[in-house]
Amino acid sequence: MSTFKAPKGTYDLIPPYSATYLAVRDAISAPLRASGYGYIETPGFEDVDLFARGVGESTDIVTKEMYTLTTKGGANLALRPEGTASVLRAALEANMHKAGGLPVKLWYSGSYYRYERPQKGRYRHFSQVGAEAIGAEDPALDAELIILADQAYRTLGLSNFRILLNSLGDKQCRPVYREALQGFLRGLDLDEETVRRIEINPLRVLDDKRAEVQKQLVGAPMLRDYLCDDCKAYHEEVRELIGAAGVAFEDDEKLVRGLDYYTRTTFEFVHDGLGSQSAVGGGGRYDGLSEMIGGPALPSVGWALGVDRTVLALQAEGIELDIPAPTSVFAVALGEEARKVLFGKVTELRKEGIAADFSYGAKGLKSHMKNANRSGARFTLVAGERDLAEGVVQLKDMESGEQEAVALEQVTERLRAKLG
Ligand code: ATP
Ligand code: MG
Repeated sequence: MSTFKAPKGTYDLIPPYSATYLAVRDAISAPLRASGYGYIETPGFEDVDLFARGVGESTDIVTKEMYTLTTKGGANLALRPEGTASVLRAALEANMHKAGGLPVKLWYSGSYYRYERPQKGRYRHFSQVGAEAIGAEDPALDAELIILADQAYRTLGLSNFRILLNSLGDKQCRPVYREALQGFLRGLDLDEETVRRIEINPLRVLDDKRAEVQKQLVGAPMLRDYLCDDCKAYHEEVRELIGAAGVAFEDDEKLVRGLDYYTRTTFEFVHDGLGSQSAVGGGGRYDGLSEMIGGPALPSVGWALGVDRTVLALQAEGIELDIPAPTSVFAVALGEEARKVLFGKVTELRKEGIAADFSYGAKGLKSHMKNANRSGARFTLVAGERDLAEGVVQLKDMESGEQEAVALEQVTERLRAKLG
């Protein structure tokens, strides 16, 4: 072991476990890639003000969880705590909203950083796959994103998750509700920090996890009763479209989410096998975010699914993804001459698109065959001096144990046929 360890709240992804992460990212992005979403990649850090303004000054993410730094040149940066603000910033900077039709549909995959109290399912470095549909107000778009996330989880084999759905209203009706809620909350017996929160972000108080707070919230005015007709009709259509797609959801009037920029549709995917870190993903509409970061009005909707928690959800449901062995053919050379010939064969196979590996470093047939077994390869090529003299290699099927001599120049063709 070296003197160093992975920093607190982080962990390394190493084979074979890491293959599951790749497969999860792939499964989450596949429905997006097949639905008109283009891949976007943005820097791992941004101007700190992008998040302060975009995510919201009063959110936990900005006040407590952000990794900030000042560069030698004096710039104030933050490691990105989430993806939406960066993606919207990048789309605006590239004028994507002016280039073609709207919405601009984008997907991303990457690492995010939050200074949190580490625990199972909560890390300081974690990964998300996300999607954003920028510049259109259409309930079908909200529905599309929810349906695609559901599809992603289903193709992974997950079933023990629920979709919570709510509407947070818009700039017509939310301020009226906000005031009514503040009036109610000011009359409660709450700690200092929560009292402060009433003034900055009262909706977040509804989200308080403490039982003594929840008890006092009984009878609080509910946003549902304040939604304007436009928001009501919009939400009703989102619900209808999701329902028609056969995607089950639960109405959750208290679902607020931790980011300030959400309007109208908000949703969360929760998994019932994960204990307190149960949210595997979430998202919603953010019609005001573009203007908050200095752009034009661009009503948008998006989500981010947590890869780490999705992997934990797979474990909770006992699902083992069917991940094919990375190597199809493993070559074992016995003797110097055979090394050269088989190494050349491996290079040739790789160029032909057949995943091949070579037994390095081992001494003796036994340790070579151990390497072959460990590789998971279906076929092994073995050659010694005598085989070479006859111009053949031994092709062994590791599953059936069958072995045949194949002429050296026919190896690629033979393997291609066998691998299908
Ligand atoms: P939570 O309520 O658990 O803190 P959140 O509301 O902060 O979650 P979002 O900002 O909506 O989460 O991020 C979307 C998804 O990213 C979450 O549902 C979760 O799967 C994942 N995620 C968020 N924070 C972390 C973290 N610290 N470690 C691992 N995954 C995380
Ligand atoms: Mg959080």
